[in-house]
Amino acid sequence: TSYGFRQVAEGEKQPLVNDVFHKVAKRYDIMNDVMSGGMHRVWKDALVATLNPRKDETYKVLDVAGGTGDIAFRILEASGRKAHATVLDINGSMLAVGAERAAKRGLSDHLTFVEANAEELPFEANSFDAYTIAFGIRNVPRIDVALKEGYRVLKRGGRLLVLEFSEVDLPMLNRLYDEWSFKAIPRFGKMITGDSEPYQYLVESIRKFPNQDNFAAMIRSAGFSRVTYTSYTGGIAALHSGWKL
Ligand code: SAM
Repeated sequence: TSYGFRQVAEGEKQPLVNDVFHKVAKRYDIMNDVMSGGMHRVWKDALVATLNPRKDETYKVLDVAGGTGDIAFRILEASGRKAHATVLDINGSMLAVGAERAAKRGLSDHLTFVEANAEELPFEANSFDAYTIAFGIRNVPRIDVALKEGYRVLKRGGRLLVLEFSEVDLPMLNRLYDEWSFKAIPRFGKMITGDSEPYQYLVESIRKFPNQDNFAAMIRSAGFSRVTYTSYTGGIAALHSGWKL
């Protein structure tokens, strides 16, 4: 691209991603606030409101690429601390921070942390009422494989919700957003972790991710029905929804 990033081959992608999140795990939650200007909280609340989890003990949600547990904690609170959440992530450092936070909040009994790859879920078919993934699917090398795995582990009637950066459709915002992501974010990354290249890669991965309509088509290809999406903040983020019917 005009920003001069090197191309990242598919096989090279997961180690790069893992490196970023091992480095930032302890500071991840602060980084999120700094880099999104606090907006990630609003988008996550929208995901949880859309999910509207059942308030009973049998409700089981799988939060993939769940990192430090942010989405799972919000879903548990919205379920009146009734549901059970499984937080799955490929990165043990992120999960360790999550487990510590869960204990502090008194939520440990409602949570299971699993270190695994979204492309190969260690669960039986038809196990979960909901599958959520927030700002994670863009990091998975084979997105189609991850979506099919999501479909497999959901129960009939279960719901998929994917929150991810998407295509900005306001020209003014787009210019600001470019300045922010290509200049500010790698700089913050360097300030906080001493290395800017992994952040350049993450910003690049946002631009490479399919736009709202193309990603909706991928979700349909994985078998999901009634696929819809909602864009937030001019398309900086979008929430995609699909059902296993
Ligand atoms: N969902 C959390 C949130 O919204 O705050 C964390 C999002 S963080 C930007 C992305 C997460 O995806 C990281 O914790 C990373 O380890 C995880 N990840 C990357 N590749 C993965 C894979 N193949 N399978 C599972 N998790 C993965």
